[in-house]
Amino acid sequence: MTPTRTTCPYCGVGCGVLATPDGRGRAEIAGDKTHPANYGRLCSKGSALGETISLEGRLLVPKIGGENSDWDKATALIAERFRTAIDEHGPDSVAFYVSGQLLTEDYYVANKLMKGYIGAANIDTNSRLCMASSVAGHKRAFGADTVPGTYEDLEQADLIVLTGSNLAWCHPVLYQRIAAAKETRPGLRVVNIDPRVTATCELADLHLPLALGSDVALFNGLLLHLAEMGAVDQEYTHSHVTGLEASIDAASADATHVAEITGLEPGLIAQFYALFTRTEKVVTVYSQGVNQSSSGSDKVNAILNCHLASGRIGRPGMGPFSVTGQPNAMGGREVGGLANMLACHLDIENPQHRAAVQGFWRSPKICERPGLKAVDLFRACADGRVKALWIMSTNPAVSMPEADAVRDAISACPFVVVSDILEDTDTARLADVLLPATGWGEKSGTVTNSDRTISRQRPFLPVPGEARPDWRAVSDVAAAMGWADDFAYRNPAEIFREHARLSGIAGKMGRDFDISGLAEISDQAFEDLAPTRWPVTGATQGGRFFADGGFFTPDAKARALPVKHRGLAAPLTDRYPLRLNTGRVRDHWHTMTRTARAPRLSKHIAEPYAEIHPTDAAARGISPADLLRVESAHGRATLRALITHRTPEGTIFVPMHWTAVWSSQGRIDAAIAAATDPVSGQPELKGMAVEVTRLAPDWYAFAACRADWSPYALPGLAYWAKARAAPGIRVELAGFGQLDAAALAQHMAWDVAESDILEITDQRAGMTRLGISSAGQPQAVLFAGPDPVEIARDFVLDAFDKGMPMASLLAGRPAADQPDPGATVCSCFDIGANTILRVVQDEGLTTLDQIGARLRAGGNCGSCRPEIRRLIAEAQPRLAAE
Ligand code: SF4
Repeated sequence: MTPTRTTCPYCGVGCGVLATPDGRGRAEIAGDKTHPANYGRLCSKGSALGETISLEGRLLVPKIGGENSDWDKATALIAERFRTAIDEHGPDSVAFYVSGQLLTEDYYVANKLMKGYIGAANIDTNSRLCMASSVAGHKRAFGADTVPGTYEDLEQADLIVLTGSNLAWCHPVLYQRIAAAKETRPGLRVVNIDPRVTATCELADLHLPLALGSDVALFNGLLLHLAEMGAVDQEYTHSHVTGLEASIDAASADATHVAEITGLEPGLIAQFYALFTRTEKVVTVYSQGVNQSSSGSDKVNAILNCHLASGRIGRPGMGPFSVTGQPNAMGGREVGGLANMLACHLDIENPQHRAAVQGFWRSPKICERPGLKAVDLFRACADGRVKALWIMSTNPAVSMPEADAVRDAISACPFVVVSDILEDTDTARLADVLLPATGWGEKSGTVTNSDRTISRQRPFLPVPGEARPDWRAVSDVAAAMGWADDFAYRNPAEIFREHARLSGIAGKMGRDFDISGLAEISDQAFEDLAPTRWPVTGATQGGRFFADGGFFTPDAKARALPVKHRGLAAPLTDRYPLRLNTGRVRDHWHTMTRTARAPRLSKHIAEPYAEIHPTDAAARGISPADLLRVESAHGRATLRALITHRTPEGTIFVPMHWTAVWSSQGRIDAAIAAATDPVSGQPELKGMAVEVTRLAPDWYAFAACRADWSPYALPGLAYWAKARAAPGIRVELAGFGQLDAAALAQHMAWDVAESDILEITDQRAGMTRLGISSAGQPQAVLFAGPDPVEIARDFVLDAFDKGMPMASLLAGRPAADQPDPGATVCSCFDIGANTILRVVQDEGLTTLDQIGARLRAGGNCGSCRPEIRRLIAEAQPRLAAE
């Protein structure tokens, strides 16, 4: 079968994927060697895409009030409830909350309905949580939301500065591209600016562990250093930049206190400044560590100021580079999916822009002012201003700050529609109407990645049940509200052409986003569209911006912007003395609605955790694998302790993925205040003030069972977290009171009619091991005791899967002749840390290539290569000492 060329639905790298369905609900996945984002590479998440497309848990019919319904009834009800709210309370009483997961065509239609027909701008997107500060910074400096460079710049640079970006885990294929470039050209230098020691540090020549939120001071210091060292490009700045002197003046106030504000050693700062100053070809890559901040826009402008001052922008191997979190965050920016933008990078505040868009759409209205940004949108649901809300392809009950309050706000909204592929998400549980959306592999359209490359997502699976593309669901509601002619799209190609035509008008009005060269594309040419970087006009295609000025401001000059360091929004107090940093793990994506379906992706990290420094742990009596309660003035989460020097003293790190579907209390955003950047409206998701306490349950347990099972209703539970295993699920549990292990195991084997029970009790250790089998097959196993359970989990799961006799399985660790592989490092080939350490120690292997040749580890997607490198480095001092 010929594979279908499509695009990965996860991060903003936008890798090309070849997908070949196997006819049994899965698909073979390979990297597309012709795609300019990845040239055949994929990370662990992309490689496992074929394991995430089963119909398990899919929403297959529309539901109204929890009951199966049909599209006609659901569409009529949505149109009627939105129309009633608008008639009675005005257009601002309704809202859409959409997503960087939507395809550009879905996004375009939703934006058109809200801004041009309903006449409000209350459409915002989860990209607000991701890159709104970059948009604001770009617009302030360049006059438009323009990413100046391309991915090739990463290979052409002599210095790459990564700031607020754990590229190795969050944009792994870009990390691999840089790693490959560094191997070819060892002179390429990498500086990693991050409070934590992350996997990305494995590639760095210099690591600057700055204090959370202090980036403005660091880059202000750099700007002053450039000025003092005569490294300002006089010719470029004279011709193309205004505001530089004022910016340098503003920077000097911070510049004298950089070490104090950032907490960095002066020597490290000096090394970084000297490296930046003497290297012409510099790319500064920044991501959520910069954006997710109450001073995110200023951080972006502090970085842009340095590139503008040195003229290092728009030429090969040079420039600031915002890498986006989501597969179509850029597409959302292009269509105006943010509440403060019009389509095609046109501005709501500009009357000519509004008139142009309304004229093009021939719409009855056009929004006249920006709408509610995400945080304010949910506050408006809570206080009754929003009467009808449509959430598409996102899970705000988990991902928004003050997530408990957001969950309550959605519940309080009189009418809530949720479009999703899954029936059970934290947000879907709150819906009045659930609409089944088509998922990756079924839908057709385009996405734009971080370097402005538009790629096709193409279907290769049949559409299941009554699922429909989002553009059609929105168009049908628009038609039912009376605008059938203006939303009579038959396919995504028609929407794409309309968007491209509008971009031509925007281009003529001096905007950067112009794909009018594709406005007459045929259906077949759209079907075949190869990855294409914008702009695409008759004259231009896909180059860099700003090497020779040409900014999108009235005088065509960039604006250097005076910015000053501001502290984090939440002050530390005696009650909340620790900083909470948040981020992603390597193998999960957002709220895990897809990645949690692939057992191999849960093998790397299977439960929510908090990294805590040994000093902070000791001060609180916390030991490894204890359970922690992280608490702020806004909420709490319960997590496993991971004691490590990799997170600095005074700060804890918690991943953002866990939901109420997969854990009892892993939703860390519940504990984060909704403090926002005053310009971008982006919430500060890194830097909340919290306290951590040790939870002291009476018992802990680890279990595996064949049936899918959630321990919601068990009495006395203090904690649970489950993950997909092959087969069934794995669960970590802890509780108060007396554990009835037999009753718990029976609970897990609820669907087994006739069973044998084997129970082994170790009185001295207080440990109970209990197994339930049926017809010789293990159905459930449970290991419980008064302390965190120490058994080889990967061994138990593997033995459970293979149907090992229960007595051997309950040993909980391999026999002496079967070494324990340890925690999974390479998910592609299921290679554990102990296996890697053994070949380093016993066979003297010391390079990635040697390990790859011996074990295959790191030889497929490469996402684990930084961890393998770290294991080799850790083992070598031990070897030397032996
Ligand atoms: Fe997908 Fe990984 Fe590529 Fe991101 S880096 S687009 S997650 S394969």
